[in-house]
Amino acid sequence: MATQRVKNHGIPENGESSQHTNGHSKPGQVTTEVQHGMLYYAFNQTIMPLFLILSCPNFVLLLYYTAVHCDGSFLLMAQKMAALGPVDGWRQLWANVVWGDPIICSIIGGYALFALVLMIILPGPTAYGPVTPKGNTPVYKDNGFFCYIVTLIAFCGATYIAKTSYGVSPTVLYDKFDVVLATLHIASIIFCGFLYLKGLIFPSTADSGSSGNPIFDYYWGTELYPRVFGLDVKVFTNCRFGMTVWPLLILVFGLKSYELHGFVDSMWVSVFLHMVYFTKFFWWEAGYMRTIDIMVDRAGFYICWGCLVFIPGLYTVTNLYLVNHPIHLGPVLSLVILVLGTGSVILNYYADWQKQEVRATDGNCIIWGRKPDVIRAKYTPEDGKERESLLLVSGCWGIARHFHYIPELALSFFWCLPGLFENVMAYTYFLWLCILLTHRTFRDDEKCGAKYGKYWDEYQRRVPYKMVPGIF
Ligand code: NDP
Repeated sequence: MATQRVKNHGIPENGESSQHTNGHSKPGQVTTEVQHGMLYYAFNQTIMPLFLILSCPNFVLLLYYTAVHCDGSFLLMAQKMAALGPVDGWRQLWANVVWGDPIICSIIGGYALFALVLMIILPGPTAYGPVTPKGNTPVYKDNGFFCYIVTLIAFCGATYIAKTSYGVSPTVLYDKFDVVLATLHIASIIFCGFLYLKGLIFPSTADSGSSGNPIFDYYWGTELYPRVFGLDVKVFTNCRFGMTVWPLLILVFGLKSYELHGFVDSMWVSVFLHMVYFTKFFWWEAGYMRTIDIMVDRAGFYICWGCLVFIPGLYTVTNLYLVNHPIHLGPVLSLVILVLGTGSVILNYYADWQKQEVRATDGNCIIWGRKPDVIRAKYTPEDGKERESLLLVSGCWGIARHFHYIPELALSFFWCLPGLFENVMAYTYFLWLCILLTHRTFRDDEKCGAKYGKYWDEYQRRVPYKMVPGIF
């Protein structure tokens, strides 16, 4: 465990780092907290997780406060907060939060139930996740796209009926967005507490366990693939909740903009690009089940609270901002942004597809007009059985080891761009994603280096850049 902690800067890669070993380790990599000191250990395992657990809920509320009460200006927000001082400033953030608001609780609870029912009843082919460090193969029902489409239809139908028959609008979610965030937060921290105990007391698989530090365990999780009554928790938190509530909120904010200002092209350009992205995401959901979020991050505060609260709170912020900033782009700029944004989604999907296709066909496919160049990387999980993965060295994966993050970032830039350049706030998501994905390139190198050893070294030698060829 000590080795894991240090290699991943305090975040164990679900055992990938030390358990997926093939006997190879890089010089200086196998170190313990003795080398880094107790302070380093305390910082990564206790202080930082505690700081994030306490600060992130306030951060998402601060974003809401900035968008709605400070005209989307971080400068104005900072001035207001400085004038109030830390205690009154904090009180101000939470001042309008009504605990147990019946409308918001019913909407959130009703949606969660609806999503669970869809998850259970809608059919889909069987999909498999990657072999875990303990040698398990997760099995899923691949009904994400079906759930997404049904949810969108239900949302449009419910909105139409609510508005025309009862004179109510889902934009109540915008009007009480601080209450929405606070309610999600409370529900999520309780849920994360349940997951923490579940992993310790009745884990679903052997890919579980404690680091010995309850704070870190709560933050990082105690299980990699928890299931409750047979339902995969991360499919629910990440896909059926986080990734589905995100587009629903984008639509709600678009509707609010329409109610306030009529048709505003900047809002709808951004909404359109978001919807293209989500449609791609759910079309490719089985591929998502093979990404870092799923195969590395345990179900704890980090990923589950992140999907249940941070995604609704931070990822939607451009459109939250645009509600009060009805910017008119005109047809030419709108079209340019739409084309470049859609092109970015396609390129990102294409890069993800190349990796999947090569593995699905064992390299017997065509990538950029020729047979793919691959490394047959061997690794041995804890069950002791040697396995092989193909590492694609040509196509997008030959340009840089995470070249696909560039179109992901480009897209996020294009859906922020309709906010133009009045306030940085419109670009909050883009700036956040730059940090997240840059950090991921390091995490993934560490994880794959520990899993594949000399084969990953060879890949790094042949494809030397992490993300941007010639630069990084
Ligand atoms: P990746 O798609 O980069 O997957 C990383 C894994 O792929 C590695 O751990 C390794 O897994 C395998 N791999 C690495 N290199 C190769 C190669 N050359 N050939 C074949 N397989 C390889 O992970 P992410 O989870 O970061 O990204 C998935 C998608 O999600 C991307 O499209 C990304 O842009 C997007 N994303 C979006 C975010 C957002 O908030 N909007 C955040 C993060 C990601 P293995 O163990 O199987 O070998």
